[in-house]
Amino acid sequence: MNGLIQIYTGDGKGKTTQAVGQAVRAAGCGFKICFIHFFKDPRRFAYGEDKVFKKIGIKVLHFVIQHPHFYPHLSKERIRKDCLKALEDIKKIFKKNFDMLILDEINIALRDGFLKEKEVLSLLEDKPKKLHLILTGRGASRDLLKKADLVSEIRKIKHPFDKGIKAVKGIEY
Ligand code: ATP
Ligand code: MG
Repeated sequence: MNGLIQIYTGDGKGKTTQAVGQAVRAAGCGFKICFIHFFKDPRRFAYGEDKVFKKIGIKVLHFVIQHPHFYPHLSKERIRKDCLKALEDIKKIFKKNFDMLILDEINIALRDGFLKEKEVLSLLEDKPKKLHLILTGRGASRDLLKKADLVSEIRKIKHPFDKGIKAVKGIEY
């Protein structure tokens, strides 16, 4: 069977955690999995899922660990360069026979102009047939959605952030 392309997008909470859930389920089925985070600095937050992934044999990588929204001194050119390098690295990872690859928050790289749509679409073209690929992040573009087999848009109805509650350990990281 060909691997599916899944996209989790929208403004509600649950995109990354959905990808985490898929990875855990697939790991239970014996899949070889690589989970790549974009724009997440493991030195800033010890992401709970990363600890579990390592225990259960899921490879975890962090690419482009900082986003200028939180680190305004970073230039757009620098981030673009790092994103392009990430695409090259992902193409190498395509050759490593993973059954499932997760590109967490890659949609943000596109939404915020660090990557061009054609660059991400070309990555999808290069996907090995059998690989299950999952992309997450708000603001997935229309052409990206067209390439997916499965799209879920998670809509916010309420979020504790709206009443000033900051990121909660075990819930958000
Ligand atoms: P999670 O990792 O919990 O599944 P997510 O991947 O859907 O969340 P992102 O868009 O990646 O959410 O946002 C990153 C962080 O912002 C998460 O910690 C999440 O809880 C929080 N968040 C998600 N949706 C909202 C929202 N509508 N308003 C404020 N914060 C949000
Ligand atoms: Mg997320």
